[in-house]
Amino acid sequence: CGIVGYIGKRDAAPLLLEGLQRLEYRGYDSAGVTVAARSGLKTVKAAGRVRDLEARLPKRFAGTAGIAHTRWATHGAPTDDNAHPHLDSSGRIAVVHNGIIDNAAELRAKLTAEGVAFASETDSEVLVHLIARADDLETLEARVQRALSFVQGTYGIAVLHAGFPDRVVAARNGSPVVLGVGDHEMFVASDVAALVRFTRQVVTLDDGEMATLRANDYRTYTTEALATEKSPTTVEWDA
Ligand code: GLU
Repeated sequence: CGIVGYIGKRDAAPLLLEGLQRLEYRGYDSAGVTVAARSGLKTVKAAGRVRDLEARLPKRFAGTAGIAHTRWATHGAPTDDNAHPHLDSSGRIAVVHNGIIDNAAELRAKLTAEGVAFASETDSEVLVHLIARADDLETLEARVQRALSFVQGTYGIAVLHAGFPDRVVAARNGSPVVLGVGDHEMFVASDVAALVRFTRQVVTLDDGEMATLRANDYRTYTTEALATEKSPTTVEWDA
């Protein structure tokens, strides 16, 4: 239902939770957050409210890049395990997803036959395993592109990879994704409401478009890897 991502100099978790709270009006049944810590990815999830998630965060949950999600369950009950982010088997890749993967059952059967163990009942989890499976490709962007080439359905996604801690990759097809351009920090969200407290400089992705966010810059391109040039527009908002 809702996505927020951050990369910059500040601690990501408080900003991500504030963003999630700003999306609460949309309704949701569970929430979760992953940050890229020095030691690898750290994830906390909770069925229930954003404040239930907040109550579960350990005292030390440091990391200057992260992704977070509020879920409106479509495939799988609203449980802790079905909450996003979803991780691959190595625990080095995390994905949040809005939308519905129409061919998830078929992809899940194929991945299971290849030996992948699923940790949730969601349609979304196939995405993270497909990205993990593309690890013969050099860049995270190329891995996400290959993963998405197998997928039918709607998605707004944000991806965090411990092997590429300087970036967050996002993609859109049928579920809104906006980038927020800050001062040496970058945001991504499913709704400007999550960003306007932090920046008014916004870039809206089109269907079939992706973005790489780094602390000091962003890049947009298509799922076929063709660059798209987009300048931020200023949103007016009474926050
Ligand atoms: N279809 C996904 C799920 O059930 C994502 C739902 C959403 O957009 O929150 O987990």
